[in-house]
Amino acid sequence: MRIDLKDIKPRLANRSDKYSSNLYRFLRNRFKENKYVQNQIEIHWLTHSRWDGSYLEFNPDNVSKGLGQLLILPLGKENGRSFYSLHEVLRKGKTTEFAIPWMKDELVDITDWFFETYIKDGRCIFDRDHNKWLSGDESRFTKVNNTRKCNWCGEWQEKQIVKVQKIDRKEIWVSQ
Ligand SMILES: [Zn+2]
Repeated sequence: MRIDLKDIKPRLANRSDKYSSNLYRFLRNRFKENKYVQNQIEIHWLTHSRWDGSYLEFNPDNVSKGLGQLLILPLGKENGRSFYSLHEVLRKGKTTEFAIPWMKDELVDITDWFFETYIKDGRCIFDRDHNKWLSGDESRFTKVNNTRKCNWCGEWQEKQIVKVQKIDRKEIWVSQ
């Protein structure tokens, strides 16, 4: 899949909005560095949990719960031997390139799904619940009474008040 950077470019290159400025700049630099990356880049889901080694199936609705499992393979699985952590790129804008230590069948190619969904929904792909704080999200929601619309992916939500019970502890003395 050939990625066109203008499809995922934030309005200001150094400030995230619907699209991550870190991811945009990271890809732009990789594309400049190596002309093959733009045509060969792949995004993979690692089924081997990087946390505890357990098996994690790819679930498009649940990607936000396993951001650490998302890998950027700049030259693809067949031609490349290295990866970057997508989560690290989002957080810090840059990250180290590592050799792939996992078996190839532990990698699920989600390139098409990822870029199609990211172009359509933007960073909501990483926060389907819409309850995370993301930098540059000031204009993410339009509030209408008790509801709000996400300006990135179009989802409507309604406000609910949930009870949070607080447990206080105090010291008392009891007779024996
Ligand atoms: Zn959204």
